[in-house]
Amino acid sequence: MPLNRRILFARVPQGLPVPGDFGQDTVETPSPGAGQFLSRTLWLSLDPYLRNIMKGHALYGVALRPGAPMHGETVSQVVESQHPQFVPGDFVVGKNGWQEYALSDGQGVRKVDPAVAPLSTWLGVLGMPGLTGYAGLVYLGEPHPGQTVLVSAATGAVGGTVGQVARLMGSRAVGIAGSDEKCRYAVDELGFDACINHRAGDLRSAIRQACPDGVDVYFDNVGGDALAAAIGNLALHARIVLCGMIEAYSMDAPPVHGPFLGPVVGARATIKGLVVYDHLHRMAEMQKVIGRWIREGRFRYREDVTDGLGNAPEGFCRLMRGENFGKSLVRVAVA
Ligand code: NDP
Repeated sequence: MPLNRRILFARVPQGLPVPGDFGQDTVETPSPGAGQFLSRTLWLSLDPYLRNIMKGHALYGVALRPGAPMHGETVSQVVESQHPQFVPGDFVVGKNGWQEYALSDGQGVRKVDPAVAPLSTWLGVLGMPGLTGYAGLVYLGEPHPGQTVLVSAATGAVGGTVGQVARLMGSRAVGIAGSDEKCRYAVDELGFDACINHRAGDLRSAIRQACPDGVDVYFDNVGGDALAAAIGNLALHARIVLCGMIEAYSMDAPPVHGPFLGPVVGARATIKGLVVYDHLHRMAEMQKVIGRWIREGRFRYREDVTDGLGNAPEGFCRLMRGENFGKSLVRVAVA
């Protein structure tokens, strides 16, 4: 068995992460004991919440100590097994972390079929980010046909799902994204009704123009200025789904001043926090609905692929600088 290359958490980043915040080593690849299997990592998911875990405190039951392999969701292939339910060749979604091989006892691991969808999609539109966008919009945002759904980070794994689900549910989908190219993609490929480049000028007025009847659902992936601008444009009884605050993840301390919440009162709006793990029971429903839309050519996705485990730190740093375009993934190996 080849040696196991691992990317390690080396130190708490100061502000935006840099590749020097990570280390690497190479260790013996372990052999599975009774009730375990060994799998080879094929795809690694890079997710913004990892920056919060790198602050050194536990989040969603995950804590990292310096010198430990980075945490992360993966698609991998079983290579050796002493587990009754997994055989060599099986493809599985699990949490191998940032390493080429990992042992598992099968807890929290799901088998996936490459004939149903490309393996990488189980980490994106058919995985945790897809569920976040789908369940967060449908069950917390509750958009009605004809209403306006506004979403930030609109071309990302979560935002792209929110906009397309909104459109397919009969709502008007308006995106906020970080470049003209991303906005063109949102409208031309994902079918958004409009998309605003948040770097192009006064965001609050641009939202007012794109959403003349107000924002019925704001799905917030960013926080900060985007949230403040959306709050300035709420329709009566609007719902705000607080999904992510990526703008603050790389700050050493939370921002002192939040957005002015006065308009929430006048709009009788509701603000709801979203944690995807509360919706895991809806994973099969989401995969059925979005999987069918993908097969019918009505739902699209884009991936931002970094090649090679050694380049994972730079891929993650790009994501945290907002330079990714689509779901951030690392292609660790080819099956
Ligand atoms: P994305 O693929 O959307 O990537 C992040 C995007 O955020 C960037 O591409 C960038 O897009 C945008 N962005 C805006 N402002 C900043 C900033 N200051 N710094 C960096 N990026 C910025 O990521 P995901 O789809 O994986 O995640 C989207 C959000 O959803 C994140 O906040 C994440 O933490 C959250 N999330 C929450 C979950 C939950 O359970 N609540 C579960 C999963 C994800 P642009 O250039 O278009 O502005």
